[in-house]
Amino acid sequence: MQKTTLLYTGKAKSVYETADPDRLILVFRDDTSAFDGKKVEQLARKGRVNNRFNAFIMQKLAEAGIPTHFEQLLTPDEVVVKRLKMIPVECVVRNFAAGSLCRRLGIDEGRALTPPTFELFYKDDALGDPMVNESLSVTLGWATEAQLAEMKQLTYRVNDILKGLFDQGGMMLVDFKLEFGLFGDQVVLGDEFSPDGCRLWDKETRKKLDKDRFRQGLGGVVEAYEEVSQRLGVDLSGI
Ligand code: ADP
Ligand code: UDP
Repeated sequence: MQKTTLLYTGKAKSVYETADPDRLILVFRDDTSAFDGKKVEQLARKGRVNNRFNAFIMQKLAEAGIPTHFEQLLTPDEVVVKRLKMIPVECVVRNFAAGSLCRRLGIDEGRALTPPTFELFYKDDALGDPMVNESLSVTLGWATEAQLAEMKQLTYRVNDILKGLFDQGGMMLVDFKLEFGLFGDQVVLGDEFSPDGCRLWDKETRKKLDKDRFRQGLGGVVEAYEEVSQRLGVDLSGI
């Protein structure tokens, strides 16, 4: 399978059409961004590490019954996926307080959230991805009530599956973001799951092993992503 037309250049990935109208190729780039694209840097190897990492997670989720867009790894930085009609609402689950939740509500970072919370954000960089709710999402035509219910249920199931997986690698899954889209009528997990879109802390030391290392200028960003990969048994050979 080969790339044809460039459809979209995002902050971290480029999206290409293929000869098959139902398949796209995503290219994971080394570009790393934070604060809605205001801080951007190239981090060598990041694209390749995230491509392998995402493939590993998507396959684990598929084995557990989550419908995903993942089809096959193509090259070290490219993956073939189902072409989805993306729903412009990001689904976030939190097991521990961090990031925007702490800023918004003055909660201490690391506070356990029981039960885990579920939030929706409208995907729009110019507006800074504002928080929204189900009612707004339906009224503004982004998704139906049934689709939102499905997205929420799938996001909680992903949380249950991945909490256990990261725990086995000695890590806490603090929070994460998912994006869904429609393949025909079916709600399918799209985009990526990588340390760019979640928070992972070492269980013992609470060392940050995710994109907060970049946001907070802590250094060792790709090294941390590689450590997470190695702890889970993700194959990074040949990249
Ligand atoms: P952003 O758009 O936030 O800058 P990326 O750089 O990761 O993010 O760009 C990837 C884009 O591809 C995102 O807009 C995402 O919603 C979209 N996308 C991801 N998976 C699919 C898919 N299977 N079909 C169509 N679009 C997708
Ligand atoms: N997240 C993301 N993309 C976004 C916004 C958030 O991947 O556009 C992820 C982020 O990495 C974290 C979780 O979603 O794992 C919750 O992010 P939060 O709302 O705390 O926002 P942030 O602190 O990143 O501004």
